[in-house]
Amino acid sequence: MSQQAGTPGQTSGTASAAASAATGAAGAAASAPRASAKPLSEAYDVALLDLDGVVYVGGNAIPGAGQALRKASEEGMRLAYVTNNANRTPAAVAEILTGFGVAATAEDVVTSAQAAARLLAERLPPGAPVLVVGGMGLRVAVRERGLRPVSTAAERPAAVVQGYNPGISYPLLAEGGRAVAAGALFVGTNADRTLPSAHGPQPGNGALLQVITYATGQQPLVAGKPEPPLHEESVARTGARHPLVVGDRLDTDIEAAQRVDADSLLVLTGVTGPAEAVLAPAHQRPTYVAEGLSGLTEPQPEVGSGPGGFLCGGWTARWTDGGELDLSGQGNRIDGLRALCAAAWSRDGVTPDAVSRALKTLADSAS
Ligand SMILES: [Mg+2]
Repeated sequence: MSQQAGTPGQTSGTASAAASAATGAAGAAASAPRASAKPLSEAYDVALLDLDGVVYVGGNAIPGAGQALRKASEEGMRLAYVTNNANRTPAAVAEILTGFGVAATAEDVVTSAQAAARLLAERLPPGAPVLVVGGMGLRVAVRERGLRPVSTAAERPAAVVQGYNPGISYPLLAEGGRAVAAGALFVGTNADRTLPSAHGPQPGNGALLQVITYATGQQPLVAGKPEPPLHEESVARTGARHPLVVGDRLDTDIEAAQRVDADSLLVLTGVTGPAEAVLAPAHQRPTYVAEGLSGLTEPQPEVGSGPGGFLCGGWTARWTDGGELDLSGQGNRIDGLRALCAAAWSRDGVTPDAVSRALKTLADSAS
């Protein structure tokens, strides 16, 4: 077990500075949400934004998202939209964004289909046949990279690439399975186990990839988040020098950012709530947390640490002698969450029980 906050002799300071001094490692997992004196839109040149849960949820724009993005853009930040969805073309995604009041062109959108096509083009000669088990977005991306989409194993494809398409058929999966069994390279656009739907989670591309994997014993190379190729494609397309990854999922967006040593902003408008953020494992902790995209145009406050606990805004989070996390004070919910994250991330093996009372205090403060 790690030491308690407020160990006698510990100097006061920022929680993240204390921890980096302790580990001595640059790029180590976040030990507390970091401070930024400048608004993030000035501190980073490009925002690489996830879509669902960040800009919109299902069929609805997130209130304030369009306005926040316009403001970030006016302040000089370039915006790119990065999606694991391989079914839609970038132009189709841009059209959806524009419909939500977020001005975007196809050039502003990067899909896992494009990242998969790049991964293929790096490994295959120009014009190589590629069996596409997926939708139009994937076929277009493969063709744009100078490869030749085909539909049967008889055409002796050099690779099989599979991405989500609601019309996927057994005959096409069977062609893909035969080609992989015959030695074709197997690539998946993304490995999301589930997809959100109005009626709850349903099987995603990661589940569908298991058909060919199970039949052939071949694991696919995966391009989408949290694997690095989609991020690399986004950086290459935007020319980003100091990008900020913005997302709502710890196991895709935030983990992907950590794997490539990029900074990240977790927003609470999607699938991740305060409890998940506080309990995040080290490899899924964001650099910053904000309620939503308005956080892009705001400075980020310091989380202080000292004998009294972890402080942010009007809040103090501290560990009790009984090993329970305690939250006191008042102010913005997000500052309370920042203090809680710093306290929880300072220890190993934190359990949901140990933080439940502090989370309730935080939730009650907002109501
Ligand atoms: Mg999302």
